[in-house]
Amino acid sequence: MYQRLEAGMIAAMNDASATAFVVSQGEELLTGQTVDTNSAWLCGKLTDLGFRVVGAATAADRTDAIADVLTRAVASADVVVCTGGLGPTEDDLTAEAAAIAFDDTVALNPEALEQVEAKYRAAGHTMAAANRRQAMLPTRAFIVPNGRGTAPGFGVTTAAGTRLFCLPGVPSEMKAMWHEVVRPALVEEGGVAAPRRFLFRVLGRGESQLQDLLGDVIAGFDGVVLGFRTAMPENQVKLVADPEVPADRFDAAVDAVRLLLGKDAFSEDEDVSLAAAIGELLVARGERLALAESCTGGLIGHLCVTEPGSSRWLERGFVTYSNAAKVSELGVLESTLEAQGAVAEEIAVQMAAGAREAGGVEWGIGVTGIAGPGGGTEAKPVGTVCVGIDGPAGSRVRTLFLPARGRDMVRRFSAVIALDMLRRQILRLN
Ligand code: ATP
Ligand code: MG
Repeated sequence: MYQRLEAGMIAAMNDASATAFVVSQGEELLTGQTVDTNSAWLCGKLTDLGFRVVGAATAADRTDAIADVLTRAVASADVVVCTGGLGPTEDDLTAEAAAIAFDDTVALNPEALEQVEAKYRAAGHTMAAANRRQAMLPTRAFIVPNGRGTAPGFGVTTAAGTRLFCLPGVPSEMKAMWHEVVRPALVEEGGVAAPRRFLFRVLGRGESQLQDLLGDVIAGFDGVVLGFRTAMPENQVKLVADPEVPADRFDAAVDAVRLLLGKDAFSEDEDVSLAAAIGELLVARGERLALAESCTGGLIGHLCVTEPGSSRWLERGFVTYSNAAKVSELGVLESTLEAQGAVAEEIAVQMAAGAREAGGVEWGIGVTGIAGPGGGTEAKPVGTVCVGIDGPAGSRVRTLFLPARGRDMVRRFSAVIALDMLRRQILRLN
């Protein structure tokens, strides 16, 4: 929802804002084999910078098709960012197409060749002849170095002043080059007045609760607009303001929201996940975590190890699906299993404590539940999940009654809510 709000707001507040166009290319995008995440990502980044994105297009792997799209893009925007087609193979045609679009020709660019060769030398390989192709660039192009892959990107400024950047298709390379080269170039040279923005990532409060909590307060800060986005079970709160809104007013609005959100905000950075936030807390305390997962089947472990450096705070994880495994690996009591079944608060706590003890660490999480679609009963319907946390703040347990909207959803919600319970337990000690 905030996307609509924000784009509309920026357009309204800044009619004269610079325009941008995003181009992607590759047959795999047009056949549906690959989802065009590059374009979505670039549209977001350009919007954040204050550009009005006026269009996006995907071209097939044909020189004329790419040249055609680039020509249209350059005619309709101040900045064009294109991804894909810089590799060494026959279907990598972007440089040739850009040359056609700008009445230029391609030639071997010695600086680009040196960069490609250096990559191969550093890896201890000799360069294949095909890779010379990656150094064939429009004669008027400047190079955008690629720190991660072999294909350098390039840029061209047209006679009319439109700036085109061509980046590789591999998302990690493209993103690094955006941050290292394209964004700084647009901000410094182009003098784009980026809107002020601030993001809070929130758990434990729904969109309407957040509106009630924050709406009136934000109204007191002239020019600061509140936006919400849901990525269940997480909600994101965003503050946006026109660049002319004074920084101290914007910062005061951010402080006011931070105070109201309190512990419900787990991150103030799009790229800092819940697991990363927990990792930071644990490392600061010199403590570690062990997991005992039943219905989440390793998903909590997955969320943890996605974070670089997780070995500093994640000790181990058990996937104990059967009752026998819960008993033998975690020391869950058979008598409790018999009396209460596997999905019970006491079992979740015993699992958490068992994992913590087995790992010899400070914190344990135990999750047991019914992901469905079968296995539910009247007393414990599908979506019933017990989460236990065991640690220096004592033990805590909760039963969740999640909507039975498929196994994936039940598992995902359980994993996120379990991690959030852990985070709140740690914060009690800080
Ligand atoms: P390479 O040197 O690897 O060939 P390239 O610049 O030629 O890089 P492509 O061949 O177009 O890039 O794409 C490389 C890979 O990057 C693709 O196989 C795909 O996985 C991914 N990719 C390309 N374009 C996109 C896109 N628009 N969105 C998401 N992923 C993409
Ligand atoms: Mg390629």
